[in-house]
Amino acid sequence: MHEFELIQRYFSRAPHGEGVMLGVGDDAALLQVPPGQTLAVSVDTLVAGVHFPADAPAQEIAQRALRVNLSDLAAMGAKPAWFTLALTLPEVNEPWLADFSRGLYAAADEFSCALVGGDTTAGPLSVTVQVMGFVSAERALRRSGAGVGDTVFVTHCLGDGAAGLAVVEGKMLQGATALDENHKAYLRQRFYRPQPRVREGQLLAGLASAAQDISDGLLADLGHICNASGVGAELELTSLPLSPALQALNDSSQVLPWALSGGDDYELCFTLPAARLAQLNKMITGGLLQATAIGKIVAGSGVRCLSSGQPVTFDARKYTDGYRHFS
Ligand code: ADP
Ligand code: MG
Repeated sequence: MHEFELIQRYFSRAPHGEGVMLGVGDDAALLQVPPGQTLAVSVDTLVAGVHFPADAPAQEIAQRALRVNLSDLAAMGAKPAWFTLALTLPEVNEPWLADFSRGLYAAADEFSCALVGGDTTAGPLSVTVQVMGFVSAERALRRSGAGVGDTVFVTHCLGDGAAGLAVVEGKMLQGATALDENHKAYLRQRFYRPQPRVREGQLLAGLASAAQDISDGLLADLGHICNASGVGAELELTSLPLSPALQALNDSSQVLPWALSGGDDYELCFTLPAARLAQLNKMITGGLLQATAIGKIVAGSGVRCLSSGQPVTFDARKYTDGYRHFS
């Protein structure tokens, strides 16, 4: 199949996104940013065998590729608008492409993000998605705004991404036998279809002092907020929110490292000044967003862990580096 035909068949659905003047098919897309808004842009590559198992279902690869990118927009407080797709394929496998395209458009529809262009090449399987969204520059959630005394929050729960990867790779360790199929299915889904907190990010824009999505693990990513803001943080480990699946495992030697440094959770970690706590609590009790206070911003640098108020130490190298590709 010719490359043109492939694009035509699988990636040329008419975009019905806001501001798309010209989508797939020309040399470049023409896109209109609404007045008063700024374009938030982010790109991520997923390589087979590195970011997902090479034999993963095509639909799930596509879902994950778009979702992890949307998480970056969420972390800026931006509203998704458009994306491009650079796809490298080892072969033209039509059933695979049909599946991939289905997963991609399903995620695109769910988050109202329109495919407006891309590139298709031959080579080892890899998927690069670039997302673009709208946010006003004053309200955008940066990493650099955390202040001493702010409370640290995280949306939903932690550790599911790493636990999900373990399930997907069939290497669930201790306690695995205690996990029933429902919990396993939940964790698998959390790995392949992380939920970018797009709605939450937009609610937090203009409210949170700093935010970041958790891709490398809480300690590493909160560490980025601390570095960018010139502050330190104290985390209370007994406050970390865990899903029913991880609670069922009931094995902190495994669950705590997943929650602190496992990565792949794509929850938002954000900081909030005391003066805005009431406003956030109102949103939480109103069911607009789910978030848990897990610590405080303090003077100094780095992230310290407390358990019931008592300092605990971890092997720094093991628990704070997050995922590094080149070390
Ligand atoms: P060019 O040689 O000008 O880069 P291409 O043949 O790469 O053109 O692409 C033709 C059109 O198809 C362009 O509009 C491009 O954005 C789009 N396109 C190519 N690959 C993809 C893809 N995987 N998904 C979506 N659009 C694509
Ligand atoms: Mg091209």
